[in-house]
Amino acid sequence: QQIHAPDDLKSLLEEIHQQAMKITEGHVADYIPALAEVDPELCGLTLATLDGEVFNVGDTQEQFSIQSISKIFGLMLAMERLGEDLWDRVKMEPSGQAFNSIVQLEWEKGIPRNPMINAGAIVVSDVLVSRYSASKNAVLSLVRTLCGNDNVYADNIVHQSEKEHGHRNAALAHLMKSFGNIDAEVDELLDHYFWQCALTMSCENLARSFTFLANDGICPFSKKKIMSKRDSQRINALLSTSGMYDQSGEFAFTVGVPAKSGVGGGMIAVVPDFGVICSWSPRLNSYGNSARGMYMVRELANRLGLSVY
Ligand code: GLN
Repeated sequence: QQIHAPDDLKSLLEEIHQQAMKITEGHVADYIPALAEVDPELCGLTLATLDGEVFNVGDTQEQFSIQSISKIFGLMLAMERLGEDLWDRVKMEPSGQAFNSIVQLEWEKGIPRNPMINAGAIVVSDVLVSRYSASKNAVLSLVRTLCGNDNVYADNIVHQSEKEHGHRNAALAHLMKSFGNIDAEVDELLDHYFWQCALTMSCENLARSFTFLANDGICPFSKKKIMSKRDSQRINALLSTSGMYDQSGEFAFTVGVPAKSGVGGGMIAVVPDFGVICSWSPRLNSYGNSARGMYMVRELANRLGLSVY
């Protein structure tokens, strides 16, 4: 697929960002104080292309809580450690339910629908704490390699407050343990899961990190092979069907690229053979996806004809 980008991508991004600033719909995540206090007006848009160019508009250097976008990093390590066996413990089907829903787990005997909802990411965290002597270091070194920046950390306040308010996630973990789908101690794996959600990064760091997914597994900046083409295709498939939670169908319909959002207001969208878009703005729609982010990514995809379908 040939993408005919306009000569001035930067001015297109600026125009879309300016329009997005008028959107005031949605609410900042307020399940923990650290997220509720983020300035709702902040808004960033980055496009990192495979020829190594990075276009930034707005608040693209601010660090924010990446939340569920971290589910991709965890999944990458779990796929590497467990191989095909991972898919006995988590499925690859869209859930059609909210990201933190518990109902399907009971019907499906503790096997989550996919690794992009909380239950699935908790199983992935179980794999990491069981298979790595230092699971947090493994994630951190992966993230730092991917974004080419050693200055990435988890926010301690977010981490602690996720733990204090994480009763629903604890319920998911205990229910799965009762079905035999969790090996580690629940407290230990939840600590890993909450820590991973508390990673803070900027739009530019995130856009750079995921360019390998648009490039058959190879990072266009470092030229490193991050994973096989097949595994990167599999991750893109999961992002296409489950990355935007129960809005994934609408996202495929209106935008048409693999993407992942987080309740911190961030979103990454992978455009195969072209690059990665990262948007960030804290106000969320009812699905937990950023309202301004949805507008910006949809607009950019439509204006450039980026849908993969
Ligand atoms: N920390 C959040 C939770 O576990 C992450 C969810 C999200 O970003 N959708 O509920």
